[in-house]
Amino acid sequence: MKICVMPGDGIGREIVAQALRVLTKVGQKYGKTFETEEALIGGSAIDATGGPLPDETVKLCKAADAVLLGAVGGPKWDTIDPAIRPERGLLGIRKELGLFANLRPASLFPELKHACFLRPDIVAKGIDLLVVRELTGGAYFGTPKGIEMRDGERVGFNNMIYSEHEIRRIAKVGFEAAKKRRKKLCSVDKANVLDVSRLWREVVIEVSRDYPDIELSHMYVDNAAMQLVRDPSQFDVIVTENLFGDILSDEASVITGSIGMLPSASVGAGRPGLFEPIHGSAPDIAGQNKANPLATILSVAMLLRYTADEKTGDMAAEAAAIEAAVQKTLQQGLRTGDIREEGCKLVGCVEMADAVLANL
Ligand code: NAD
Repeated sequence: MKICVMPGDGIGREIVAQALRVLTKVGQKYGKTFETEEALIGGSAIDATGGPLPDETVKLCKAADAVLLGAVGGPKWDTIDPAIRPERGLLGIRKELGLFANLRPASLFPELKHACFLRPDIVAKGIDLLVVRELTGGAYFGTPKGIEMRDGERVGFNNMIYSEHEIRRIAKVGFEAAKKRRKKLCSVDKANVLDVSRLWREVVIEVSRDYPDIELSHMYVDNAAMQLVRDPSQFDVIVTENLFGDILSDEASVITGSIGMLPSASVGAGRPGLFEPIHGSAPDIAGQNKANPLATILSVAMLLRYTADEKTGDMAAEAAAIEAAVQKTLQQGLRTGDIREEGCKLVGCVEMADAVLANL
């Protein structure tokens, strides 16, 4: 498998280096070869080439089976022309690769339950869900949009618009993800008010006929926001449109309380998908061996699970081995600063990865 690796800025290089050690180790353990090639993105690309997404990077990404990203951005580039800011590199590569689905797991390792914002009796039931968010449609991209004068006052408007094919393809991603998990899919919409949501629901039901073994349910978005904090254990996979997904995926991850632990994936119709931690480049701790590498290490597990196909063979075992090694490391009481806990051992980025490797 060919993987394009983009460390990016800030803590990006540190966390990606550790994740690659884990990738190599898992390859040795399971007899797989991973070929990696590094590419520039974000601030480091601006420094080297004048732009956040060099053509060479796009070429390398497109030729790869999967892309692993650290994080981009930092104060050094905060004041430059917005058209070439580091974040533009990220938006650009998502577009170039046609990534229309964002997969954000929110799971709480029992060892980190103290970090969770919810009541202990709710936490005790467990949190292990995945939000599948549509990424390229809906109100964020719909037209017409704008602010204009009407009858002597300013009017602002956007258009939440979805075509059938856009709904069908994201629904499929949701069903496929549920197939790899506990086989439950909850489609979130606002079909009691919005016409676009009525179509969403109709199409999701149509797609469900191809997935008889997946239990499909529907929930209005206001209720979903409430249920996520009342009882997140009821969810396996949630599939929803762009704006609802933006809000719900952030809500789901914040309740777990640990930004340094959560991976994510963005996928399109074919290859490659893009895998990255949900956090940013953390310039406040960059270069100090303080960053938590676990979100990036878990991104590698996601990469293996979601890139697997006939060519590579199923890699669920490899992904599960990484996740188990992370859990064991937490059980052993190792913590980086962001998840620090009394009675546990405070370690740096490298030491945390050392322990994961040993447990692998
Ligand atoms: P951030 O996620 O970088 O940091 C927020 C806080 O969490 C900081 O205190 C940081 O130290 C801590 N933190 C984040 N990841 C951590 C880790 N792995 N281990 C330990 N602590 C961690 O968000 P921010 O401070 O708002 O943004 C910093 C820069 O990152 C900005 O330039 C922003 O644009 C960029 N950013 C990039 C991405 C991305 O690349 N996908 C996402 C968000 C923000």
